[in-house]
Amino acid sequence: MPNALVTGCAGFIGSNLTDRLLAEGYSVVGIDSFSDYYARERKEANIAAARTHERFTLVEADIVDLARADAGRGTPTLRELVDAADRVFHLAAQPGVRASWGESFHVYTHDNELATQVMLEAAKSVGVEAFVYASSSSVYGDTDVFPMREDAVCVPYSPYGVTKLAGEHLCRLYTRNFGLPTVSLRLFTVYGPRQRPDMAFSRFIDAALRDEPIRVFGDGSQTRDFTFVGDIVDGFTAAVGAPPGTVANLAGGSRVSLADAIETLGTVLGRPVRVEHAATQAGDVRDTWASTDVARERLGYEPKVSLAEGLAAEVAWYESTVRASADPHAE
Ligand code: NAD
Repeated sequence: MPNALVTGCAGFIGSNLTDRLLAEGYSVVGIDSFSDYYARERKEANIAAARTHERFTLVEADIVDLARADAGRGTPTLRELVDAADRVFHLAAQPGVRASWGESFHVYTHDNELATQVMLEAAKSVGVEAFVYASSSSVYGDTDVFPMREDAVCVPYSPYGVTKLAGEHLCRLYTRNFGLPTVSLRLFTVYGPRQRPDMAFSRFIDAALRDEPIRVFGDGSQTRDFTFVGDIVDGFTAAVGAPPGTVANLAGGSRVSLADAIETLGTVLGRPVRVEHAATQAGDVRDTWASTDVARERLGYEPKVSLAEGLAAEVAWYESTVRASADPHAE
């Protein structure tokens, strides 16, 4: 089986992908800096099972530091790590639309642009079978042209979106200039087990289980194309066979208003959820809704998990992992 390099392996999506690749027989080297955007314990828990696996190696480091490291100093260089891999899955990034304004922007340029550039340089110098980049629906911006198609002009609406689009452009030009087989996957609002604590469903489940009101930014009529993390992982594993330069949306295939999604969550939780509204946040787009034609044609992508099923899986994970570790008396 091939060797994979997964960056951001301790994060929400990267850890789910790592587990899948190990289950499929890959040997996986994972890089993660355990950035402080959210609690390290969460990331440790995400990667706990993989760490016991004989075909998994964790390199705890910042990608940019690895690129600057000298060879022969004990820690592997980025080039050596990429050279040992057949397939690279580059998910490491600073996520989050709302936090990307102001002072913290330099973190976004470092983790999303510079880290992607050094990954591509390393991959270009040693050659890889596939370089799959985690892009984002945020590259589209606040459009009213639906469904969002990959050939649309991208006008991001947040600094985060700008940095993710920059990463995508870098991938495209390494393919065009050097033939590096990159594939960029534009992910649409991912949810499911291990979801980041700053993301909507994570916050909603946490509040609802504490009998606190759910805080919704805006009036709840905004829509999202929610995508279950298992479907996203399917897309990543299928992307290694896609034509170089492919850019494809990975989405759940259905568009739901936030208010309807909260109602579904209430049904899954078996209790009514109270909602309190707050002002719309800068950078938040009104609607997302993807065309998945390209992913279907080039990746054989077919999202399988309904919102109700996916939310049930996220709630089960939350109760068994996050809540259980927060309450020492819980079973
Ligand atoms: P996450 O924060 O859970 O995971 C990202 C991981 O990358 C973290 O563990 C972090 O420590 C690591 N990291 C960040 N900078 C690094 C660096 N310089 N060197 C090494 N490691 C570094 O986020 P996630 O939600 O799992 O997102 C994964 C990818 O998917 C990101 O590229 C993100 O932009 C993209 N994406 C996510 C969503 C979503 O809905 N979650 C949507 C669109 C795109």
